[in-house]
Formats: sequence, structure tokens, C-alpha cells
Amino acid sequence: MGEVRFGRGGVPDWLEPMVRFCSRCGTPLEFGPIGGEDRDRLGCPACGFVFYVNPRLVVTTLPITERGEVMLIRRGIEPGYDMWAQPGGFLEIDETVRAAAIRETLEETGLLVEPGEILGLYSRVPAAIVVVAFVARIVEGEPQVTHESLETRPFAADRIPWDDVAFETSVRALSDWVARVRPDLPLPDPTKIHRDFGA
Ligand SMILES: [Zn+2]
Repeated sequence: MGEVRFGRGGVPDWLEPMVRFCSRCGTPLEFGPIGGEDRDRLGCPACGFVFYVNPRLVVTTLPITERGEVMLIRRGIEPGYDMWAQPGGFLEIDETVRAAAIRETLEETGLLVEPGEILGLYSRVPAAIVVVAFVARIVEGEPQVTHESLETRPFAADRIPWDDVAFETSVRALSDWVARVRPDLPLPDPTKIHRDFGA
């Protein structure tokens, strides 16, 4: 996937085909000023529906082993196939952030975790996402290959495979974790972290 361009209202080009019509009455949306709004938005000229386009939340965990290593998965799906990332996925409409963290981690690693404190929040505007990363304690289970992961493996703070980490948000989250547990270690240069669009 190439460079992302931003169209009407700051909507990334890949998202634009999904926001063309009013989801209430089917009329083509128009972009422009809306009464009472402080910025131009997509609105329906027929029924007045305002289509707010907002980022989605991706819920992730850094599952930590008893030895203080972080469990990463080698991704079995795109984006980021065959590269490393922490487990996670999109928050569903009917669940809490904490429940999503537990569910996604179990689905992708076979590990039951107890999410602890939030390590950080990471915006990725071209992907229209915000990633939340919990530090999580592994409660039970053994790492498993799942339909979304080719491998789940623990990494010590000085063994993070930086060049093979799938997403910019993952590099940033892992950097924050390493800075906490091993402040003596060098970190990737944030200005040089570049990943093709993905998260
Ligand atoms: Zn409408």
C-alpha cells in the first residue's frame, strides 16, 4: 500500500469509499459547513444526517512472562504478515476495553492475561486508529499457533527484533516498555521508524 492521501474532512483515501452515502437514507453525502459545527463535515442534504468520521480504537497487550519477557506474535494475517507485533485488535461495539484486551490476547496467543496499567496511547492518523497498549500479566495458558499468528515467542528487552516489528505503533509501544524496564538500552530513533501504512 502506497502513501496515504487525505481527502474531504481529513478522511484518508482508503476510507473515502466507505463514507460516500448517507447511512440513514442513501443520498450521496456532501462535504461542507454544517450549522453549529466548528469544521466542515460530511452531511446529508436530504435528511440532515451528519456523518462523523472518527478513528477506531485498537486494543493491545504486552503480555509479560514470569522472567520479565514480552510475548510477541509473528503475524499470520495482513497487514504485517510474517512480522512481529503485540497481540491486539479492534474494540467491538459491545465490550469494554479491558474485555477486548483479554479476548484479543487469548485469540491470538492462547494466553489468558490480566491487563494491568496502560503503557500508552498511540495515534496513527493514516490508518485512522488509536492503539492502546496494556502491560499484562500472564495468568495461564501456553503460547499457541492460532489462525492469526504463525508463532508466539517471548523476547527479553534487549532482544526486541526492531527491524521486523510490523507497525509504527508497536515500535513506539515496545520502546516505551523497554525504556521502563531497561532504561540503559538503546532505542530505535523515532524519526527513522517508518512502516508502510498498516498500524
Ligand atoms: Zn440522509
